[in-house]
Amino acid sequence: MQNGNKPLIICENLVKIYKVADLEVVALQGLDFTVEPGEMLGIVGTSGSGKTTLMNILGGLDRPSAGRVSVDGIDLLSLSEKALNEYQRLKVGFVWQQTGRNLIPYLTALENIELPMTMAWVSNHRMKRRWAEELLQAVGLYERRFHKLTQLSGGEQQRVAIAVALANKPVLLLGDEPTGEVDSTTAQTIMDTFRGLNRDLGLTTIIVTHDPRIAEQVDRVVAIRDGKISTETIRQVSQLEKAMVGEHPAETEYDVPLREVTFQEFVVLDSAGRLQIPKELREQLGIGKRAQMELEDDCIVIRPVPGEDETQGAKRLTLEEQIALLFEEVPTAQRKPGFIARLIKPAKK
Ligand code: ADP
Ligand code: MG
Repeated sequence: MQNGNKPLIICENLVKIYKVADLEVVALQGLDFTVEPGEMLGIVGTSGSGKTTLMNILGGLDRPSAGRVSVDGIDLLSLSEKALNEYQRLKVGFVWQQTGRNLIPYLTALENIELPMTMAWVSNHRMKRRWAEELLQAVGLYERRFHKLTQLSGGEQQRVAIAVALANKPVLLLGDEPTGEVDSTTAQTIMDTFRGLNRDLGLTTIIVTHDPRIAEQVDRVVAIRDGKISTETIRQVSQLEKAMVGEHPAETEYDVPLREVTFQEFVVLDSAGRLQIPKELREQLGIGKRAQMELEDDCIVIRPVPGEDETQGAKRLTLEEQIALLFEEVPTAQRKPGFIARLIKPAKK
């Protein structure tokens, strides 16, 4: 079902503007990102940064105002209302934070999973039942299949919700803070369920979370800041573990740990080469609306403009001062530690 080596998701310059009365809120400001088939991606970001907006667009629940978004070769912007509905029902599975939004309380676990299949016009009852049972097996709840939702714990309900999301065999599973309302042990069980499905079915999965422990368990984490991707962190598994994949030797046979997972954070540039300088860094260095950028050996150095402080806005300089600045070195007094933002360094070998 997936399209060769191409990314499963491509977002280019995605913009979403909400209009409320006379006010315009720019929730996504030209967001670029791609997701490979089979990848498990985490999205983090402060409240209001645009995470849910992005998930809703990927899930076909909302349309972007501009830009490009394609999932599994389908251009979501070009779809009619009816086709977008179809996409939403058949191509993506959605797990929300509030379990109530995913499930119908008076139906059993099995019936909840069969419902989306019925809505997608699957009429063969035995086929539906068999697939629903398989899914409950996959999320570890087969024994509870005849329980009504009200007879299940929060974590169990969320695992049923994952099974419901998979009922129509989507190419993409989306979770918007799916562990947001449960304790940490339950969160871990839910996360293990996502991870297992991703591994066993090769299911492309995106999970929004602000739990750092959850974020560490995915292949890659992208951070959204003000409606754009600002950084991404890639989980790197040691060569040793990679070599062991599929072998599962007893850990005790080895002196060295089998799992050595490291994380490397990168600044992300958009298609036009723009990158974000985090607010904390800008404030720390007194970078306002402008900065100086220059190439130095193997890195790019970004410096505040002397005499310009964010708190004062762009201070007006006289022509003489501006000319003097052009010929002046940055005063050495300003070269204090932390003064230079070294943004791009080659990865250390
Ligand atoms: P997050 O999920 O990261 O907390 P959201 O995507 O929900 O962020 O929101 C991003 C921005 O868009 C916020 O400023 C929010 O107030 C605004 N927003 C989200 N949904 C709507 C809406 N339906 N109408 C108006 N503004 C919205
Ligand atoms: Mg949200």
